[in-house]
Amino acid sequence: MWLEDIIRLLERTADALEQPGTTSRRSFVLGTAAALVGSALLPEEAEAKKKRSNRPSRAQNTPHFIDSYSPKNNRRPIRSHTDYIILHTTEGPADGSLNRLRAGGFAHYMVDKDGSIYRIIEPHKYANHAGRSMWNGRTNIDNRSIGIEVVGTYTGNITGSQSTSLKYLLDTLKNRYNIKDDHILTHSMVAYGNPNKWHSRKHRGRKRCGMLFADPDIRARIGLHNCPSYDPDTKTGRLVTADAYLAKVLFGKTPVEREEAIKTYTRPESNILTTGRTPWDIAQEQYDKQSTVYTLPDGRMLRGNEIKDWRLIPSGTRVSRGEYQSPEEFEGFHEIGKDGSTAQEIAGELYNRATAIYFFSDGKIREGDQLSEQQLDALSAGTKLLVGYVYGGKVSANRSAFSITGTRWNHPTTFYRLPDGKITSGDDIDSKKIPKGTIIMFKD
Ligand SMILES: [Zn+2]
Repeated sequence: MWLEDIIRLLERTADALEQPGTTSRRSFVLGTAAALVGSALLPEEAEAKKKRSNRPSRAQNTPHFIDSYSPKNNRRPIRSHTDYIILHTTEGPADGSLNRLRAGGFAHYMVDKDGSIYRIIEPHKYANHAGRSMWNGRTNIDNRSIGIEVVGTYTGNITGSQSTSLKYLLDTLKNRYNIKDDHILTHSMVAYGNPNKWHSRKHRGRKRCGMLFADPDIRARIGLHNCPSYDPDTKTGRLVTADAYLAKVLFGKTPVEREEAIKTYTRPESNILTTGRTPWDIAQEQYDKQSTVYTLPDGRMLRGNEIKDWRLIPSGTRVSRGEYQSPEEFEGFHEIGKDGSTAQEIAGELYNRATAIYFFSDGKIREGDQLSEQQLDALSAGTKLLVGYVYGGKVSANRSAFSITGTRWNHPTTFYRLPDGKITSGDDIDSKKIPKGTIIMFKD
């Protein structure tokens, strides 16, 4: 992959320029030349390197960059566009977060409380950090963005060192990719959810991640002087609002309005169910996850994934959200009769679209738009359903994974269902060992 090598080289050059104290431009040109002719360091470059090691390693105020690349970095595809930067909050302590982000390749950078910047995925490559996302009608924001995780919580604040480092990193990336301030968004602005038990339409409010980076004061501290003033997707009706408070925090017209909305998250009773406060209101997309624990008034504890009938969870139940979930876990199959009695109950407005894939117990597979309303009404218990993916079909002698998915074959969001039923992602599949009959599904 000659082109890929050249791009990597240029990116490395640019990356190193993030650290003006450690390497001079001249030595870079030399280093680049050496790499291009395939030789080791030129003699004067080796000499310069020796001298440099005696100097202080970086100028003051230049953040401390730490290479902490994900094992997935090497096989990640190069992004075709870079239009946005998405800001996230880790919702957990630095060590655990870094391990999780590295293991999944779930961000390009992480900025710690002390201002250290960890490099996880090279900035020109694909990282799956935003998951199901939409901005201005465009989906799959991961294909067009750089993701920065900031250690902290969505209602918290950032440290002085974090704002200095973040400003430096954002300035560098804004310059390199020509990104405007109002294209620097929070994960909560772009994440959206497919229909579920609480909302029958596609909705905004799946996550509150990175919410604090909509605050004009915090934005000013990291060098951002513009912010989107409304949500282009709820405005046009592509999505509905599923978290009214979040909408106020992100796009509230006055500071008072924003502060009032934030208070609803931080009051001591804010994680207790009432008639007006549902599991969704407290935990959003994590409401039915194993990591979310419901403590009932009688002291019994249930995990989100153990609850089948939500009407049986009474007011007064305390909800504690576990640590942050990775954005790109396989969303998995739903089952008629178990997760809902009809397809519409499970998939909402998407039930009869091509992106609702039905797996019948006799082995037949159909997309929602290939089934009549009668067939969709008469689905038998045990029929499995996958929502929000494109059915790519089976791999055969004349149909390779590449011919089905194009360049998406190795995207972490592309899933392979092997003939033995196992599911593996584009991150892990070996392109030479995909058995015939493997079914490929990729994100819409
Ligand atoms: Zn996030």
